[in-house]
Amino acid sequence: MIVTREKPLDEILGYIWPFTKILIAGCDGCVHPPRGLREAKTYALMIEMAGKAKGKQFECIPVTVAKQCDNNIVYTSLQSYINEVDAVLSLACGVGVQVIVEVFPDIPVFPAQNTVFMGSQPKEGAIFYEKCRACGECLLGYTGGICPVTRCAKSLLNGPCGGQVNGKCEVGGWVRDCAWYLIYQRLKKLGRLDLFEEFRPPRDQRIASSPREVGGLVR
Ligand code: SF4
Ligand code: SF4
Repeated sequence: MIVTREKPLDEILGYIWPFTKILIAGCDGCVHPPRGLREAKTYALMIEMAGKAKGKQFECIPVTVAKQCDNNIVYTSLQSYINEVDAVLSLACGVGVQVIVEVFPDIPVFPAQNTVFMGSQPKEGAIFYEKCRACGECLLGYTGGICPVTRCAKSLLNGPCGGQVNGKCEVGGWVRDCAWYLIYQRLKKLGRLDLFEEFRPPRDQRIASSPREVGGLVR
């Protein structure tokens, strides 16, 4: 999931204040919490009510898009609305916002969410934990399937630092598990402690430097 947090309503109102007709674009893709049609309708209502309370009459059109990270889907889903509105408020992650900007370059587009990280939750309703930073050079095959880049607070590649105590990480006060302790335990269980001892050279930061591009048959 791409984990997001909603922006304060006042920040959103600040973006859209100069405009009247706002397209509220939800996304049915991997943004979390869910931000589909139901949430677009809720945002529409909230914005209209907050506007009214401050003396401004917004007119919001709530819609949703199967996934805002696909230019074609964004075009086919939103093109019939674009000429009717003054601005778009996207409920997707930062990727979705930028795709709408690319597809409809003549209209202002604003984010309703702060995009936080890629992560997972142990069960429905539980906390989300960051698991991957999309570093472009995945090490999980050598580290027992536990990411040191993301889950070690210092992104160390060759074992734990001196701050590890009883399997806990010094960063944050020995509350979270030390990633390298988890990696060690996992590799031991798999009978692959040889991997723990193997030297891993510094990562090639050029692979992880942005902006990145990958694949595709056509431009
Ligand atoms: S090493 Fe970690 S950050 Fe890099 S791709 Fe693998 S899981 Fe993601
Ligand atoms: S204690 Fe473990 S997780 Fe924390 S910074 Fe050191 S090696 Fe990384």
